Amino acid sequence: MTTNHELFQRAQQLMPGGVNSPVRAFKSVGGEPFFTARADGAYLWDVEGKRYIDYVGSWGPMIVGHNHPHVREAVERAVKNGLSYGTPCPAEVTMAETITRLIPSIDMVRMVNSGTEATMSAIRLARGATGRNLIVKFEGCYHGHGDSFLVKAGSGALTFGVPTSPGVPKANADLTLTLAYNDLDAAARLFDEHSHDIAGLIIEPVAGNMNCIPPKDGYLQGLRELCTKHGALLIFDEVMTGFRVALGGAQAYYGVTPDLTTFGKIIGGGMPVGAYGGRRDLMQQIAPAGPIYQAGTLSGNPVAMAAGLAMLELIQAPGFYDQLAARTRLLTDGLQAVADGEGVAFSTNRVGGMFGLFFTQEKVESYAQATAADAAMFNRFFHGMLERGVYLAPSAFEAGFVSSAHSEQDLADTLEAARGALRTAQTG
Ligand code: PMP
Repeated sequence: MTTNHELFQRAQQLMPGGVNSPVRAFKSVGGEPFFTARADGAYLWDVEGKRYIDYVGSWGPMIVGHNHPHVREAVERAVKNGLSYGTPCPAEVTMAETITRLIPSIDMVRMVNSGTEATMSAIRLARGATGRNLIVKFEGCYHGHGDSFLVKAGSGALTFGVPTSPGVPKANADLTLTLAYNDLDAAARLFDEHSHDIAGLIIEPVAGNMNCIPPKDGYLQGLRELCTKHGALLIFDEVMTGFRVALGGAQAYYGVTPDLTTFGKIIGGGMPVGAYGGRRDLMQQIAPAGPIYQAGTLSGNPVAMAAGLAMLELIQAPGFYDQLAARTRLLTDGLQAVADGEGVAFSTNRVGGMFGLFFTQEKVESYAQATAADAAMFNRFFHGMLERGVYLAPSAFEAGFVSSAHSEQDLADTLEAARGALRTAQTG
């Protein structure tokens, strides 16, 4: 039998860190990653046959659970008709109709192949449409690995302590202004200072790449007003929150309308897909309708569209999001009760189907608080959970995800595992 260890030994000789995306390598939590052989429902099985209740869900897209038959069958049907055409295909039109129907702020949409592509394209559009250069982002927010975003970035960049990456030219980084998340006064001051130069402000409306931090009441509305006042575009990066915190994403959940929105993950149903969209007058400026160039050989791929459309059908079932939020609440309330019972300083955040766990007594509302929580304790807890067959994101700076496939029994098993993991984590 191939073991996880043997695969990782081989992988490390062949791929940087043995992986194709940094956080997967378990570098910050220590130890070695497992290699997944298959996935179904709420579970992953590694190559050694061990089962894990999975709260990563391929980092978000598996909102109906892994290998859902409806999605799989749609892919199987699509594959029979070929893998890629390089011409328009009908499913792209259905996808655009579906997205524009579900997200009222989006009149027109362009499909791409990842969240990174979506955000890079959205800021090019913001710059092209406004004729301005500066982009505002938030410390600890992650928008993919485009040069403009690897400045005080979250996710793996934060996990590995290089929030601003070598290789990003200073001239480029200088065009990215950063702000503290959830501090509206600081945003107002920055806009006053650079009023005529800011092309757009990009934000994760619920921050999910520095653990999980919801916006304070009125914060997103305040940013909307600032952008309108200063003629900058408000870009919601809903790669994580889109179709996750509510059917209409964070913009529906909080009732704030952005100018542009980026998506990824969920709309591909597990296939490599992203999208950006927004107001018609803005999107009409994208090539070939307008002069701002953006393209992709595999964009709108028929197999990926089939998977995404099948996924989008499932999440429109009545009550889907109520149930998802209720399960997530059961999980976070349950974990809080277990931690309280064990005398561990602990708090949680949650919005819809996403959640965050913090080893601190405080309610976490900022990057400073998230990074001040006890990361060493998280790492011990992570490994305790892994041993007991529960897979959390392998970093203290990532949100967790619940799917509709997580049963009450899965949640109960998770809480039981947490009790044991907290006991061992406390003893260090
Ligand atoms: N934006 C956000 C909010 C994300 O969470 C991510 C990925 N985790 C991205 C953009 C980048 O997406 P991708 O990894 O598909 O390029």
